[in-house]
Amino acid sequence: MARYRGSVCRLCRREGLKLFLKGQRCFTEKCAIERRNYPPGQHGQGRQKFSNYGIQLREKQKAKRVYGVLENQFRNYFKKAERKKGVIGENLLCMLESRFDNVLYTLGFASSRAKARQLILHGHFTINGRKVNIPTYQLRQGDAIELKEKSKKIESIKDAMDSAVHRGIPQWLELVPEKFAGTVKNLPTREDITVQIQEQLIVELYSK
Ligand code: SF4
Repeated sequence: MARYRGSVCRLCRREGLKLFLKGQRCFTEKCAIERRNYPPGQHGQGRQKFSNYGIQLREKQKAKRVYGVLENQFRNYFKKAERKKGVIGENLLCMLESRFDNVLYTLGFASSRAKARQLILHGHFTINGRKVNIPTYQLRQGDAIELKEKSKKIESIKDAMDSAVHRGIPQWLELVPEKFAGTVKNLPTREDITVQIQEQLIVELYSK
């Protein structure tokens, strides 16, 4: 599976805001945004002026980076969003939000979406009692996620759950921490998504 292998903190610096890609480190003073909040590279501290196209492009890049999706995959999500009923931008965000890796992160089982992907690929979780090792799996209303019994002693999962308490659980999900389980009560709507993305700019970019 193709994935970005460079420094993830550079991605935050490029977008000029915290994308929370590195787990606990993002909440410490070691965060690169806290220390060097300007774009990376030789001209990073120079004056930045974006055209309309540049602004739309940055918004698309930001969404891709938050959810850890590469270009082709992101375009495919967009095509699917176009085919669905409703507002394209909202469909797009709701699909990204209900990916298995994002839901695990949101429930607090992992400190970042990248860690969530790793746990899924290693087969630590089940959906409705069946092992699912596909991070892009699209969850549906009523799906029940559970950590496998033998995986309940993994310290990194316990640590992630402890430190995720302050993030809170959105109303469309339910977490039962003592059982290491969660449920998708209903699919997310635009109001449930707190990631700072102006999806309309992405729609404008792809509609050119
Ligand atoms: Fe982004 Fe986290 Fe790195 Fe800060 S520590 S720059 S929020 S990935």
